[in-house]
Amino acid sequence: MSDEHNTPGAARSFETLAIHAGNTADPLTGAVVPPIYQVSTYKQDGVGGLRGGYEYSRSANPTRTALEENLAALEGGTRGLAFASGLAAEDCLLRTLLAPGDHVVIPDDAYGGTFRLFAKVVSRWGVEFSVADTSDPASVRAALTDRTKAIWVETPSNPLLGITDIAALADLARTAGAKLVVDNTFASPYLQQPLALGADVIVHSTTKYMGGHSDVVGGALITNDPALGEELAYHQNAMGAVAGPFDAWLVLRGIKTLAVRMDRHSENATKIAEMLTRHPRVTQVLYPGLPEHPGHEVAAKQMRAFGGMISFRVEGGEQAAVDVCNNAKLFTLGESLGGVESLIEHPGRMTHASVAGSALEVPADLVRLSVGIESADDLLADLRQALGD
Ligand SMILES: *Cc1c(COP(=O)(O)O)cnc(C)c1O
Repeated sequence: MSDEHNTPGAARSFETLAIHAGNTADPLTGAVVPPIYQVSTYKQDGVGGLRGGYEYSRSANPTRTALEENLAALEGGTRGLAFASGLAAEDCLLRTLLAPGDHVVIPDDAYGGTFRLFAKVVSRWGVEFSVADTSDPASVRAALTDRTKAIWVETPSNPLLGITDIAALADLARTAGAKLVVDNTFASPYLQQPLALGADVIVHSTTKYMGGHSDVVGGALITNDPALGEELAYHQNAMGAVAGPFDAWLVLRGIKTLAVRMDRHSENATKIAEMLTRHPRVTQVLYPGLPEHPGHEVAAKQMRAFGGMISFRVEGGEQAAVDVCNNAKLFTLGESLGGVESLIEHPGRMTHASVAGSALEVPADLVRLSVGIESADDLLADLRQALGD
């Protein structure tokens, strides 16, 4: 059987690559799905005689390799690397790119854990950062210094669903001699392809849409710069926060349905955003698919659809927003996002409690939804009753 369809970068469509890239039939048994190679070390055929390059599972493991090849193919990269969490991937990237005295521009609505990594961890090692509104290239340009080594972008952003023009910031980064990093967690490579728009490195929390079933924590880095790919792989092995074989297998399994899931997440979210827009108790709906969203045109240019995340503000302030979260029944009250089941949360008290008092503080009357792939009618009915209809 030919395995040519497993070659990363082969001219196949996204849906096909999601299922086949990296998923070579097992050479020993023909198993169609890559087995979970739950193993730490590998028998050598004479000293240094490695079979297929496998020596020790921190350095490489066949299940993780399958996922890493798949990730590279889906983002149009030359190298994919799978980590134990999204933050482990970010840590590896930062320690690969930066040295004391370097400077990074980060978004004013960065994921809370990303902000904490800069503010509380990386800053202790002499790395400086500035916060900018990345949806406005002029704000990013004003934050650049002659030590800026990276511009960090999240689009759509969390939890305010801000949109950044990736191609515009790629131009800016190139001129500044900095790398453009895009956290593509909210969009997934099905909806948005940052490397094709000029980004240098993609970050994922595969915990979210890539895994898609709220059953695994993982992270990834993908680049199309072979030299940077080598450096990242070197640091991944040197620092060791790799994805374990079972976690890699779960993410690989989740990715096979990514395209159909993202279509349904986007469809359901569009219906819900439209309902919320008309709801008398909702004062603002943040969803890039709505024509009145300030980033709508840029989102329409760089995304295939608008994804499953919505935030909205409730009349009556913080307690009213908390009540909506508590009243929801089908929407599960919980942190995280990107699973098949719908989630609701209050960012100010939950996911974004750690950024209170900083430039990243979020409105107290904000509710965030991760819209799942259940029946849209059931989801609409649950939100209406949670809003007191
Ligand atoms: C969850 C998340 C992360 C962190 O990933 P973990 O897997 O939780 O470590 C980073 N960026 C975004 C946008 C996220 O949603």
